[in-house]
Amino acid sequence: MESKKISTDSSVFIFNELETYKTNVFLIERKAKVFLIDTFCGTDSMNLIKGILSKKLNKEIIIVNTHFHWDHVWGNCAFKNNLIISHKLCRKFLDKYWKQQLKQNKKYILGNVEKVLPNFTFKEGIKFENEEIEIFYSPGHTLDSISIFDHHNGILYAGDNLEKPIIYVENKDIEIYIETLEKYLKLKPKKIMAGHTIYLNEEDIFKTIKYLEDLRNGSHIQFESEYMTKVHKENYNLINEKTNYKKFNI
Ligand SMILES: [Zn+2]
Repeated sequence: MESKKISTDSSVFIFNELETYKTNVFLIERKAKVFLIDTFCGTDSMNLIKGILSKKLNKEIIIVNTHFHWDHVWGNCAFKNNLIISHKLCRKFLDKYWKQQLKQNKKYILGNVEKVLPNFTFKEGIKFENEEIEIFYSPGHTLDSISIFDHHNGILYAGDNLEKPIIYVENKDIEIYIETLEKYLKLKPKKIMAGHTIYLNEEDIFKTIKYLEDLRNGSHIQFESEYMTKVHKENYNLINEKTNYKKFNI
């Protein structure tokens, strides 16, 4: 795991333990509160971060789950006594699919994993006014996806809605996904961070919208790598078949 500063008061922790992609956990520190975005794969993966947080004695630690996928929530059990924020649907999906996700991805557990669901949910959005942190519903990659906009630094945290070299589409509603990406453009973010990719830009949003339109229209697309072709095929199958959440065969 490596960590990097992304602004004066925020950093990213990049985990390399999963085979095909890196996974990011973000920390935003303000005067009275610290926000931790996603919790990766279990108690051990959160040890170093817990160590850092334990030194911030007078600050409230708030956890945010961007969506219900296992690689973003299994470390929740390291923060049982904290506020854990997610969309209403995220809590619902996690409750429903917890066992299944655990069974199918057991080999990635780092330390212990215990079922700890978000304890503070919302439907449209919430704003921590003093901290200038807005958390809003942004369906796309999944139906429960949320994003975080740090108004102070102009940083957008997009969860898995953006990813390079190609996004995983795990929900059939392409129109709603495009609407979310258009909303991102309106925010005019200075920096964009995502669950598996850091430092994306406006151009990447435009490219993702174009990809989604091509996917929806069944257009022929030429890809640069086998990996992209494979993910695209999976995306195509998902939106054209009756399966949902292909990653987990749910
Ligand atoms: Zn995901």
